[in-house]
Amino acid sequence: MVFRSPEWVPKLPFDPPDSIPICDFVLREQYGRVPLNQSRAPYTCGLTGKEYSTAEVTQRVDFLARALARRLGWEPNRGSEWDKVIGVFSLNSIDTLSLAWAIHRLSGICSPTNAAYPRSELTYQLKASKAKALFTCVPLLPIALAAAHDVGIPQDRIYILELPEEFETGNDNQNNYETVNQLIDFGRGLPELEPLQWTKGQGANQTAFLCLSSGTSGLPKMAMISHRNVIANIMQIASFERPYRDKMSRSSNRPYYTEVALGLLPQSHIYALVIICHASTYRGDNVIVLPKFDLLQMLRSVEKYRINILYIVPPIILTLTKSEKVTKRFDLSSVRAVYTGAAPLGTGAAEDLQKQFSHWKIRQTYGMTEASPLVLCTNYTDIWLGSSGSLLPSTEARIVSDEGHDIEQYDQPGELFVRSPSVVLGYLNNDQANLETFQGGWLRTGDEAMVRVSPQGTEHLWIVDRLKELIKVKGHQVAPAELEDHLLSHPSVLDAAVIPVPDPESGEVPKAFIVKQPSAGVVVPNSVIKREILKHVANHKAQYKWLKGGVEFVEEIPKSPSGKILRRLLRDRERASRRQN
Ligand code: AMP
Repeated sequence: MVFRSPEWVPKLPFDPPDSIPICDFVLREQYGRVPLNQSRAPYTCGLTGKEYSTAEVTQRVDFLARALARRLGWEPNRGSEWDKVIGVFSLNSIDTLSLAWAIHRLSGICSPTNAAYPRSELTYQLKASKAKALFTCVPLLPIALAAAHDVGIPQDRIYILELPEEFETGNDNQNNYETVNQLIDFGRGLPELEPLQWTKGQGANQTAFLCLSSGTSGLPKMAMISHRNVIANIMQIASFERPYRDKMSRSSNRPYYTEVALGLLPQSHIYALVIICHASTYRGDNVIVLPKFDLLQMLRSVEKYRINILYIVPPIILTLTKSEKVTKRFDLSSVRAVYTGAAPLGTGAAEDLQKQFSHWKIRQTYGMTEASPLVLCTNYTDIWLGSSGSLLPSTEARIVSDEGHDIEQYDQPGELFVRSPSVVLGYLNNDQANLETFQGGWLRTGDEAMVRVSPQGTEHLWIVDRLKELIKVKGHQVAPAELEDHLLSHPSVLDAAVIPVPDPESGEVPKAFIVKQPSAGVVVPNSVIKREILKHVANHKAQYKWLKGGVEFVEEIPKSPSGKILRRLLRDRERASRRQN
């Protein structure tokens, strides 16, 4: 059985523009955005208050594109997009979106990278995307330089996104690299670029963003997100929210109702990239950008800018509920809604937050990189704590049993499959993963879900478990296969398996089961080997991938006859032993 969005969700005549770049859709009035004179400034720096209007952003995109075209020797209508990939490795900035749109203005591809990555992981992504240039920020410059060196990106193709002053010191090298503002000043003096001449349907086939995701199994892969995918998801989000916005504009007697949103989640992750940044710009909202999460900066910004929407993740909700003494010192009365996503929010945590802030609407969302990203969202009038909400318009879902049959009944869990125009083009150069994940137009999510009917009589989806090999630490992806590969490179490790274990702060953290190499002569104590293994991961992997769940030595790793690690078995065993303790 195919489930669809409920009746109250305005239907879309579903034909997202497929021949324009995303920035035309979000910046130009002709595609239905909130008129420019009714829009707030799209991005404001929460620390300095610096901001640009939509018209200024449009101009900055243009000048930046002119400068990049000259510096890199690229032309908007010539050359393959795969030769025009630019990596972005930075903390959040008010210029990130302008940069992405400038790259698109040259028919190029933007590949945002997690700012927590160490050299080896940045190198992996730059290599996988075949990036030809790299934008970074001052605090990350040393890592960016090292990784650029590893993949052969020349020094004069490394540029800097400016951050507030307190982030800009302590790097003697920084003056050797052109900044976004310097590029824009340079571009101002250059002749106009020729208009983009995209053929009919090009936006549906052309990749706009390359984002790493591990999907249902294996190593992280490059998801190819097209211009039309992002445009579709913006339309779906805007349409889902329309009844609320219409009601608010009526009650405030304004032709358009716009909001002020918190933008502290990493812009390299699809949640922030599409939901917070793109959808907000289209709807005329103002995003208060913070370079990264810091509780006090967040609370100060909410108070100072009268923020209405908090886009956050479950670990930030836990921090809020644990910091009541601190939150009480701030005026947070402007907040109307909290959107949480990227990882499960426990019902208990949601209830604690609701007790603390009774007027906040707590709205859970569910999405994934491969769906660019939003699939489900709670409606503001139909909040059911624990549920991930209802399907967005033009999104279909099936719940499939272990045996591969569609589940027709409510309250019965199975694997969630999704069909939507926002489902990505596939993974770059990975036929096997594409076959496993994209099946006959359906995206296999690897998440276990069930459909339940809310007290108000609407179908909601509840995500009940994760079937796929993915660990979510504070909303960040950790692929067990990646850690296992890395562990196997340690001389004391014969075999390894990694699973998620619950963690009060991060939601989940990785735990490793290790089979030791047989000792040749001298017996090294387990505690020493364990320390070495923890260090081996800490030295090469981003901090959120560290083995905070611990290391356990075992005689053997359970495997199927074909050699596949039976992680499910390990997870079940771990759950049972935790219950006993
Ligand atoms: P990402 O591609 O990093 O956004 O990760 C997507 C995955 O995060 C999903 O497939 C889920 O496993 C998990 N996830 C996202 N939102 C939720 C949610 N509301 N509840 C449970 N899991 C979620």
